[in-house]
Amino acid sequence: MKIISILTSLLLVLSFQSVHAQSKTFEGTESVYQNQTFYEVKDFPQKFKAKKPKNVILMIGDGMGVAQVFAGATANRGQLYLNNFKHLGYSRTQSANRYVTDSGAGGTAIAVGHKANNSSVGVDSNGNPVPSIITVAQKNNLATGIVVTTSLLDATPADFVAHVPSRKMMPEIAKAFVASDLEVFIGGGIEHFQNREDGRDLLAELTEKGYQVCDTITEVTKIKSGKLAGFLREGRISQRGDQLERTTAVALDILDDHKNGFFLMVEASEIDGGGHDNDMQYTVEEMLDFDQTIGKVLEFAAKDGETLVVITADHETGGLTLVNGNMETGEVTGRFTTGGHTGIMVPVFAYGPGAEMFTGIGENTSFFQKFIKVLRLNP
Ligand code: MG
Ligand code: ZN
Repeated sequence: MKIISILTSLLLVLSFQSVHAQSKTFEGTESVYQNQTFYEVKDFPQKFKAKKPKNVILMIGDGMGVAQVFAGATANRGQLYLNNFKHLGYSRTQSANRYVTDSGAGGTAIAVGHKANNSSVGVDSNGNPVPSIITVAQKNNLATGIVVTTSLLDATPADFVAHVPSRKMMPEIAKAFVASDLEVFIGGGIEHFQNREDGRDLLAELTEKGYQVCDTITEVTKIKSGKLAGFLREGRISQRGDQLERTTAVALDILDDHKNGFFLMVEASEIDGGGHDNDMQYTVEEMLDFDQTIGKVLEFAAKDGETLVVITADHETGGLTLVNGNMETGEVTGRFTTGGHTGIMVPVFAYGPGAEMFTGIGENTSFFQKFIKVLRLNP
Protein backbone atom coordinates (compact mmCIF):
# COMPACT_ATOMS: atom_id res chain seq x y z
CA MET A 1 0.00 0.00 0.00
CA LYS A 2 2.74 2.35 1.01
CA ILE A 3 4.68 1.68 -2.20
CA ILE A 4 1.60 2.33 -4.29
CA SER A 5 0.94 5.64 -2.61
CA ILE A 6 4.59 6.66 -3.03
CA LEU A 7 4.40 5.70 -6.71
CA THR A 8 1.17 7.64 -7.12
CA SER A 9 2.58 10.78 -5.58
CA LEU A 10 5.71 10.41 -7.70
CA LEU A 11 3.53 10.19 -10.80
CA LEU A 12 1.59 13.24 -9.65
CA VAL A 13 4.79 15.19 -9.17
CA LEU A 14 6.04 14.11 -12.61
CA SER A 15 2.80 15.02 -14.38
CA PHE A 16 2.66 18.34 -12.51
CA GLN A 17 6.16 19.11 -13.73
CA SER A 18 5.31 18.26 -17.31
CA VAL A 19 2.32 20.61 -17.27
CA HIS A 20 4.31 23.35 -15.61
CA ALA A 21 7.45 22.85 -17.66
CA GLN A 22 9.65 25.88 -17.38
CA SER A 23 13.13 26.88 -18.24
CA LYS A 24 15.22 29.11 -16.03
CA THR A 25 17.63 30.28 -18.68
CA PHE A 26 16.78 33.93 -19.21
CA GLU A 27 16.92 34.59 -22.89
CA GLY A 28 16.00 37.70 -24.75
CA THR A 29 17.50 41.13 -24.97
CA GLU A 30 18.07 43.70 -22.24
CA SER A 31 18.16 47.28 -23.43
CA VAL A 32 18.63 50.54 -21.49
CA TYR A 33 17.40 53.99 -22.48
CA GLN A 34 18.28 57.27 -20.78
CA ASN A 35 15.91 60.02 -21.87
CA GLN A 36 17.39 63.51 -22.41
CA THR A 37 14.41 65.58 -23.54
CA PHE A 38 11.49 65.89 -21.15
CA TYR A 39 8.18 67.62 -21.72
CA GLU A 40 5.50 69.10 -19.50
CA VAL A 41 2.07 67.51 -19.65
CA LYS A 42 -1.11 69.56 -19.36
CA ASP A 43 -4.34 68.55 -17.63
CA PHE A 44 -7.44 68.69 -19.80
CA PRO A 45 -11.04 69.22 -18.64
CA GLN A 46 -13.25 66.16 -18.22
CA LYS A 47 -16.56 67.93 -18.95
CA PHE A 48 -17.81 68.12 -22.52
CA LYS A 49 -20.44 70.29 -24.14
CA ALA A 50 -22.10 67.37 -25.96
CA LYS A 51 -23.36 64.00 -24.63
CA LYS A 52 -22.69 62.26 -27.96
CA PRO A 53 -19.65 62.88 -30.12
CA LYS A 54 -19.79 64.36 -33.63
CA ASN A 55 -16.20 63.38 -34.39
CA VAL A 56 -14.07 60.35 -33.59
CA ILE A 57 -10.29 60.27 -33.58
CA LEU A 58 -8.98 56.71 -33.39
CA MET A 59 -5.29 56.51 -32.56
CA ILE A 60 -3.44 53.21 -32.97
CA GLY A 61 -0.03 52.62 -31.45
CA ASP A 62 1.22 49.68 -33.52
CA GLY A 63 2.79 47.18 -31.11
CA MET A 64 1.92 49.28 -28.03
CA GLY A 65 1.39 47.13 -24.95
CA VAL A 66 1.20 48.32 -21.35
CA ALA A 67 5.01 47.98 -20.99
CA GLN A 68 5.58 50.32 -23.95
CA VAL A 69 3.23 52.89 -22.38
CA PHE A 70 4.91 52.65 -18.99
CA ALA A 71 8.39 52.77 -20.51
CA GLY A 72 7.35 56.12 -21.99
CA ALA A 73 5.95 57.26 -18.65
CA THR A 74 9.18 56.33 -16.86
CA ALA A 75 11.34 58.05 -19.48
CA ASN A 76 9.30 61.27 -19.15
CA ARG A 77 9.61 61.19 -15.34
CA GLY A 78 6.14 59.79 -14.72
CA GLN A 79 4.27 62.20 -16.97
CA LEU A 80 2.27 61.30 -20.07
CA TYR A 81 -0.62 63.00 -21.85
CA LEU A 82 -2.20 59.55 -21.60
CA ASN A 83 -2.57 60.24 -17.85
CA ASN A 84 -5.55 62.46 -18.81
CA PHE A 85 -7.61 59.45 -19.83
CA LYS A 86 -10.19 58.32 -17.24
CA HIS A 87 -11.93 55.60 -19.27
CA LEU A 88 -9.67 52.60 -19.70
CA GLY A 89 -10.04 49.07 -20.95
CA TYR A 90 -8.30 46.18 -22.67
CA SER A 91 -8.59 44.79 -26.16
CA ARG A 92 -8.07 41.10 -26.99
CA THR A 93 -6.11 40.77 -30.19
CA GLN A 94 -6.25 37.11 -31.28
CA SER A 95 -6.87 36.71 -35.02
CA ALA A 96 -9.19 34.22 -36.75
CA ASN A 97 -6.41 31.70 -37.30
CA ARG A 98 -3.64 32.60 -34.83
CA TYR A 99 -3.26 33.29 -31.11
CA VAL A 100 -0.70 35.95 -32.04
CA THR A 101 -1.95 38.38 -34.65
CA ASP A 102 -0.13 40.52 -37.21
CA SER A 103 -1.09 44.08 -38.09
CA GLY A 104 -3.12 42.89 -41.08
CA ALA A 105 -5.61 40.88 -39.05
CA GLY A 106 -5.30 43.07 -35.94
CA GLY A 107 -6.11 46.28 -37.82
CA THR A 108 -8.79 44.59 -39.90
CA ALA A 109 -10.66 43.53 -36.74
CA ILE A 110 -10.62 47.14 -35.50
CA ALA A 111 -11.51 48.59 -38.92
CA VAL A 112 -14.27 46.23 -40.09
CA GLY A 113 -15.42 44.44 -36.92
CA HIS A 114 -14.58 40.92 -38.10
CA LYS A 115 -11.78 38.58 -37.07
CA ALA A 116 -9.55 37.90 -40.06
CA ASN A 117 -6.67 35.55 -40.82
CA ASN A 118 -3.15 36.87 -40.35
CA SER A 119 -1.83 38.94 -43.27
CA SER A 120 -5.26 39.74 -44.66
CA VAL A 121 -6.55 43.27 -45.15
CA GLY A 122 -10.18 44.41 -44.87
CA VAL A 123 -11.71 40.96 -45.38
CA ASP A 124 -13.42 38.47 -43.04
CA SER A 125 -12.01 35.03 -42.24
CA ASN A 126 -13.51 33.66 -45.48
CA GLY A 127 -11.77 36.32 -47.52
CA ASN A 128 -14.94 38.31 -48.22
CA PRO A 129 -14.54 42.11 -48.33
CA VAL A 130 -16.24 43.91 -45.44
CA PRO A 131 -16.85 47.69 -45.33
CA SER A 132 -14.67 49.52 -42.83
CA ILE A 133 -15.72 52.16 -40.32
CA ILE A 134 -14.25 54.73 -42.74
CA THR A 135 -16.62 53.55 -45.50
CA VAL A 136 -19.60 53.52 -43.13
CA ALA A 137 -18.70 57.02 -41.88
CA GLN A 138 -18.52 58.27 -45.49
CA LYS A 139 -21.94 56.74 -46.28
CA ASN A 140 -23.26 58.79 -43.37
CA ASN A 141 -21.70 61.98 -44.80
CA LEU A 142 -18.83 62.21 -42.35
CA ALA A 143 -15.45 63.42 -43.56
CA THR A 144 -12.61 60.92 -43.16
CA GLY A 145 -8.84 60.91 -42.85
CA ILE A 146 -5.79 58.73 -42.23
CA VAL A 147 -2.39 59.85 -40.90
CA VAL A 148 0.51 57.43 -40.34
CA THR A 149 4.28 57.44 -39.85
CA THR A 150 4.94 54.46 -42.12
CA SER A 151 3.79 53.69 -45.67
CA LEU A 152 0.08 54.36 -46.27
CA LEU A 153 0.05 50.97 -47.96
CA ASP A 154 1.26 49.18 -44.84
CA ALA A 155 -1.21 46.85 -43.13
CA THR A 156 -2.74 49.15 -40.48
CA PRO A 157 -3.84 52.03 -42.75
CA ALA A 158 -4.62 49.59 -45.59
CA ASP A 159 -7.07 47.74 -43.30
CA PHE A 160 -9.31 50.83 -43.33
CA VAL A 161 -9.52 51.33 -47.13
CA ALA A 162 -8.55 48.14 -48.98
CA HIS A 163 -9.91 44.59 -49.23
CA VAL A 164 -7.19 42.17 -50.28
CA PRO A 165 -6.16 38.69 -49.15
CA SER A 166 -2.55 39.72 -48.52
CA ARG A 167 -0.93 42.82 -47.05
CA LYS A 168 1.86 42.40 -49.60
CA MET A 169 -0.42 43.50 -52.46
CA MET A 170 0.76 47.12 -52.25
CA PRO A 171 0.09 48.16 -55.88
CA GLU A 172 -3.50 47.01 -55.33
CA ILE A 173 -3.75 48.84 -51.99
CA ALA A 174 -2.52 52.08 -53.64
CA LYS A 175 -5.50 51.90 -56.06
CA ALA A 176 -7.82 51.52 -53.08
CA PHE A 177 -6.51 54.81 -51.68
CA VAL A 178 -7.26 56.59 -54.96
CA ALA A 179 -10.80 55.16 -54.89
CA SER A 180 -11.26 55.80 -51.17
CA ASP A 181 -12.77 59.32 -51.10
CA LEU A 182 -10.79 60.19 -47.97
CA GLU A 183 -10.59 63.96 -47.46
CA VAL A 184 -7.01 63.61 -46.27
CA PHE A 185 -4.35 60.94 -46.12
CA ILE A 186 -0.73 61.49 -45.12
CA GLY A 187 2.09 58.96 -44.93
CA GLY A 188 4.74 57.19 -46.97
CA GLY A 189 4.45 54.92 -50.00
CA ILE A 190 4.58 57.33 -52.99
CA GLU A 191 6.57 54.74 -54.97
CA HIS A 192 3.42 52.67 -55.50
CA PHE A 193 1.50 55.64 -56.94
CA GLN A 194 3.91 56.28 -59.83
CA ASN A 195 6.02 54.24 -62.31
CA ARG A 196 3.53 51.41 -61.91
CA GLU A 197 3.55 48.16 -63.82
CA ASP A 198 -0.06 48.69 -64.90
CA GLY A 199 0.95 52.06 -66.43
CA ARG A 200 -1.48 54.06 -64.29
CA ASP A 201 -0.26 57.38 -62.89
CA LEU A 202 -2.09 57.43 -59.57
CA LEU A 203 -0.70 60.84 -58.60
CA ALA A 204 -2.25 62.33 -61.75
CA GLU A 205 -5.49 60.50 -60.95
CA LEU A 206 -5.48 61.99 -57.44
CA THR A 207 -4.99 65.49 -58.87
CA GLU A 208 -7.89 64.87 -61.28
CA LYS A 209 -10.04 63.84 -58.34
CA GLY A 210 -9.37 67.20 -56.71
CA TYR A 211 -6.60 66.28 -54.30
CA GLN A 212 -3.79 68.64 -53.50
CA VAL A 213 -0.86 66.24 -53.91
CA CYS A 214 2.17 67.18 -51.78
CA ASP A 215 5.44 65.41 -51.13
CA THR A 216 7.20 67.58 -48.54
CA ILE A 217 6.30 68.41 -44.95
CA THR A 218 6.59 72.15 -45.80
CA GLU A 219 3.95 71.82 -48.52
CA VAL A 220 1.71 69.57 -46.42
CA THR A 221 1.68 71.95 -43.44
CA LYS A 222 0.56 74.82 -45.71
CA ILE A 223 -2.72 73.06 -46.55
CA LYS A 224 -5.65 74.25 -44.44
CA SER A 225 -8.69 72.97 -46.38
CA GLY A 226 -9.82 70.95 -49.39
CA LYS A 227 -8.59 67.43 -50.13
CA LEU A 228 -5.02 66.42 -49.43
CA ALA A 229 -2.83 63.47 -50.42
CA GLY A 230 0.42 63.96 -48.52
CA PHE A 231 3.39 61.72 -49.27
CA LEU A 232 6.13 61.97 -46.70
CA ARG A 233 9.14 60.13 -45.37
CA GLU A 234 8.52 56.98 -43.46
CA GLY A 235 10.74 55.43 -40.87
CA ARG A 236 12.11 56.30 -37.46
CA ILE A 237 11.73 59.56 -35.63
CA SER A 238 15.43 60.34 -36.19
CA GLN A 239 14.54 60.62 -39.89
CA ARG A 240 11.11 62.22 -39.71
CA GLY A 241 11.21 64.44 -36.57
CA ASP A 242 7.89 65.69 -35.19
CA GLN A 243 6.09 64.87 -38.44
CA LEU A 244 3.25 62.89 -36.80
CA GLU A 245 2.26 65.79 -34.55
CA ARG A 246 2.34 68.29 -37.41
CA THR A 247 0.52 66.15 -39.97
CA THR A 248 -2.17 65.23 -37.44
CA ALA A 249 -2.74 68.96 -36.89
CA VAL A 250 -3.10 69.45 -40.68
CA ALA A 251 -5.63 66.62 -40.89
CA LEU A 252 -7.66 68.10 -38.02
CA ASP A 253 -7.60 71.51 -39.70
CA ILE A 254 -9.00 70.02 -42.91
CA LEU A 255 -11.56 67.71 -41.28
CA ASP A 256 -12.84 70.34 -38.85
CA ASP A 257 -14.31 72.28 -41.80
CA HIS A 258 -16.86 69.50 -42.31
CA LYS A 259 -19.98 70.30 -40.35
CA ASN A 260 -21.37 66.73 -40.33
CA GLY A 261 -18.38 65.55 -38.32
CA PHE A 262 -15.43 63.34 -39.13
CA PHE A 263 -13.62 60.07 -38.46
CA LEU A 264 -9.82 60.27 -38.35
CA MET A 265 -7.41 57.37 -37.86
CA VAL A 266 -3.89 58.24 -36.69
CA GLU A 267 -1.26 55.55 -36.42
CA ALA A 268 2.05 55.67 -34.56
CA SER A 269 3.32 52.91 -36.81
CA GLU A 270 6.86 52.61 -35.52
CA ILE A 271 6.38 51.63 -31.86
CA ASP A 272 6.18 48.18 -33.46
CA GLY A 273 9.62 48.69 -35.03
CA GLY A 274 11.19 49.30 -31.62
CA GLY A 275 9.73 46.02 -30.40
CA HIS A 276 10.92 44.05 -33.43
CA ASP A 277 14.41 45.50 -33.00
CA ASN A 278 14.39 44.87 -29.20
CA ASP A 279 15.58 48.45 -28.88
CA MET A 280 14.49 50.61 -25.92
CA GLN A 281 15.63 53.90 -27.45
CA TYR A 282 13.58 53.19 -30.59
CA THR A 283 10.57 52.02 -28.55
CA VAL A 284 10.55 54.93 -26.08
CA GLU A 285 11.22 57.68 -28.63
CA GLU A 286 8.31 56.42 -30.75
CA MET A 287 6.09 56.09 -27.66
CA LEU A 288 6.83 59.66 -26.53
CA ASP A 289 6.29 60.98 -30.07
CA PHE A 290 2.88 59.28 -30.03
CA ASP A 291 2.10 60.71 -26.59
CA GLN A 292 2.94 64.24 -27.71
CA THR A 293 0.68 63.78 -30.73
CA ILE A 294 -2.00 62.61 -28.28
CA GLY A 295 -1.42 65.90 -26.43
CA LYS A 296 -2.19 67.87 -29.61
CA VAL A 297 -5.30 65.77 -30.22
CA LEU A 298 -6.49 66.29 -26.63
CA GLU A 299 -6.07 70.03 -27.06
CA PHE A 300 -8.37 69.89 -30.10
CA ALA A 301 -10.88 67.55 -28.44
CA ALA A 302 -11.06 69.53 -25.18
CA LYS A 303 -11.71 72.77 -27.06
CA ASP A 304 -14.17 71.17 -29.48
CA GLY A 305 -16.22 69.35 -26.81
CA GLU A 306 -17.85 67.03 -29.40
CA THR A 307 -14.86 64.83 -30.20
CA LEU A 308 -14.26 61.34 -28.86
CA VAL A 309 -10.62 60.18 -28.75
CA VAL A 310 -9.98 56.43 -28.58
CA ILE A 311 -6.46 55.05 -28.31
CA THR A 312 -5.45 51.41 -28.61
CA ALA A 313 -3.00 49.01 -30.27
CA ASP A 314 -3.38 46.20 -32.78
CA HIS A 315 -1.08 43.93 -30.69
CA GLU A 316 1.98 44.05 -28.49
CA THR A 317 5.45 43.69 -30.05
CA GLY A 318 8.64 42.36 -28.47
CA GLY A 319 7.20 40.74 -25.34
CA LEU A 320 8.56 43.73 -23.45
CA THR A 321 8.75 43.99 -19.70
CA LEU A 322 10.48 46.61 -17.56
CA VAL A 323 13.12 45.34 -15.15
CA ASN A 324 14.50 48.66 -13.93
CA GLY A 325 13.79 52.37 -14.14
CA ASN A 326 14.15 55.71 -12.44
CA MET A 327 11.28 58.21 -12.34
CA GLU A 328 13.65 61.05 -11.36
CA THR A 329 16.23 60.59 -14.11
CA GLY A 330 14.09 59.10 -16.87
CA GLU A 331 16.20 55.98 -17.28
CA VAL A 332 14.40 52.77 -18.11
CA THR A 333 15.60 49.21 -18.70
CA GLY A 334 13.52 46.84 -20.75
CA ARG A 335 13.80 43.16 -21.44
CA PHE A 336 12.37 41.84 -24.69
CA THR A 337 11.40 38.19 -24.91
CA THR A 338 10.74 37.90 -28.65
CA GLY A 339 11.50 39.59 -31.95
CA GLY A 340 7.89 39.16 -32.97
CA HIS A 341 4.43 40.02 -31.69
CA THR A 342 2.74 38.59 -28.58
CA GLY A 343 -0.81 37.58 -27.68
CA ILE A 344 -1.39 39.66 -24.53
CA MET A 345 -4.25 42.12 -24.23
CA VAL A 346 -3.48 45.71 -25.19
CA PRO A 347 -4.72 48.86 -23.44
CA VAL A 348 -7.64 51.05 -24.54
CA PHE A 349 -7.89 54.72 -23.51
CA ALA A 350 -10.91 56.91 -24.23
CA TYR A 351 -11.57 60.64 -23.71
CA GLY A 352 -14.59 62.77 -24.59
CA PRO A 353 -18.33 62.22 -24.99
CA GLY A 354 -19.07 58.48 -25.28
CA ALA A 355 -15.74 57.46 -23.70
CA GLU A 356 -17.54 55.31 -21.13
CA MET A 357 -18.44 52.84 -23.91
CA PHE A 358 -14.79 51.88 -24.32
CA THR A 359 -14.13 50.44 -20.86
CA GLY A 360 -13.79 46.82 -19.77
CA ILE A 361 -12.30 43.90 -21.64
CA GLY A 362 -13.46 43.53 -25.24
CA GLU A 363 -12.50 41.80 -28.45
CA ASN A 364 -10.72 44.00 -31.00
CA THR A 365 -13.79 43.52 -33.21
CA SER A 366 -15.95 45.51 -30.76
CA PHE A 367 -14.55 48.94 -31.71
CA PHE A 368 -16.41 48.92 -35.05
CA GLN A 369 -19.90 48.49 -33.54
CA LYS A 370 -19.11 50.93 -30.73
CA PHE A 371 -18.09 53.63 -33.21
CA ILE A 372 -21.30 53.06 -35.20
CA LYS A 373 -23.37 53.24 -32.03
CA VAL A 374 -21.68 56.24 -30.47
CA LEU A 375 -21.76 58.25 -33.74
CA ARG A 376 -25.33 57.00 -34.46
CA LEU A 377 -24.32 55.88 -37.94
CA ASN A 378 -26.51 53.94 -40.30
CA PRO A 379 -24.46 50.79 -41.05
MG1 MG B 1 1.01 49.34 -38.52
ZN1 ZN C 1 5.04 44.14 -36.22
